[in-house]
Order: sequence, then structure tokens, then C-alpha cells
Amino acid sequence: MITDTEGIILRQIKTVNGRTMLSVFSRKFGKISVGTNLTGAGKNKSALATRPFTYGEYELFKGRDVYNLNSGRVIKSYFDIGDDLDKFMAASYVLELTDKILMEEDPQPKLFVDLTDFLEAIEKRSKKLDTLVLAYMVKALDSTGTMPELDCCACCGRSRGNRPAGWFSIEEGGILCRECAQESADGQDKSLIYQVDFDIINVLGYFRKEPFSRFEKLALEDKVSDKLMDILKGYLAYHLDISNLKSEFVNI
Ligand SMILES: [Zn+2]
Repeated sequence: MITDTEGIILRQIKTVNGRTMLSVFSRKFGKISVGTNLTGAGKNKSALATRPFTYGEYELFKGRDVYNLNSGRVIKSYFDIGDDLDKFMAASYVLELTDKILMEEDPQPKLFVDLTDFLEAIEKRSKKLDTLVLAYMVKALDSTGTMPELDCCACCGRSRGNRPAGWFSIEEGGILCRECAQESADGQDKSLIYQVDFDIINVLGYFRKEPFSRFEKLALEDKVSDKLMDILKGYLAYHLDISNLKSEFVNI
């Protein structure tokens, strides 16, 4: 069966006999693995479209259980992001996170748009890249149905009402009320409970709802973004087993 789709190349994996497997976030089918003999090194039009950071259009042949690349065409290459180490690390982290958080062949058209928007936004931006990365992390959690609990205490279920959340528990997967925070401070691993002195619900809610075009002039304070990064990375590791990403060793 021959089909075509737009896609973003997340990763190239070299396999035997000069074959390469591409992990592609396709608009139509979600994340798919696509086999090809092209290496991405040549000047060939299709080869250029197999490089990570490429947003392209791909014609695929679906065999019994694997997609093969017939041809590809670059719609936009974000390869220049590689000229700036900070942007490269931030965007690499986002591509790797996307590769890990998506299930195979589970279409995610909204997150697909979010990822192209993220790449556009980071290409233009020169500082506070972590604000964009955090926004994408929240959108990825939201799209895949794995958002932390923010409306009520993740431990006892008591509604938060209008009160700001004072604590976030990685283990419980959401905000905690004062009582549960005090109680679990004895029982739980303390490194998994964060006291939050900023409005985590508003920040996460804003990132979830608003498009990247609204974040152009938005930058979180360093202490807020550092803590939020710790919380979300802890949450991803604990609940989704997503940790030790290759691009994570550099602080983004
Ligand atoms: Zn509670």
C-alpha cells in the first residue's frame, strides 16, 4: 500500500546492511518507524528529507509490518538550529521526548502542530529557551492524556477550591492539599515532594491552552523554570519511565 504524509524526523537509527530506520512523527499516523537505504548524507532530495529536524512530506510504502520510504521532500529544515548549541540541546531534548512519549501509530495531530510551532519558535528566539521547552512538555503530557492532577489533591481528592497549590507530589502525580503534604512528608521520599511558591496551576494551564505564538514575549523567571523543569522531569521519570535522555546532560 502506498500512502503519503507530512512528518517530522525525530531520530535516525542505523541498522544492518546499510539500512536506516527513521523514527517519524507523521501527521496522519502518529509516530511510525520507516526503513530506508538513504543515509541523509548525500545531496539527493529524498536523502536530505531524512535528517533529524526536518519537517517534510513523505511517500511511504507500507509492507506487512513496516513502512518503507519511497521518496521525501523537505518542507522546512530546522537544521540551522544546530548552529547554536543551546537551541540544539533544547530542540534535541524535545524531539527525544516526543519519540519516547508517543505510542506507535497513535495519531496526535494537535501535538504535531505544536511540535512544528515549537521548532519555529525556538528558531526565532535567542534566550530563555527553557520556557518553550516547558510549554512543549506540558502540551505533550496533555495530548497523550498524562497531565498531572491539578484540580484537586492527588492524594485525598479534596477539591482545591480557589486556593493556590502549595505542594506538588511526583509520587501522587499532582498537587497536594496542606494536610496530605504534611502527612506524606513523613512517609514519602521527600525528594519527590516539591513546595511550590509560584502559581503552578496557572502556569501549567496557560502552557496547556495557549499556542506557541503567545509565548514570544513570555519568559519564566529562572527559579520558577528550574523548579518546574525538576518537577516535570521527575514526573516523566516516575510515571512514564522517561528519563536519562541523551540530550539531558546539558542543562536547558
Ligand atoms: Zn489531600
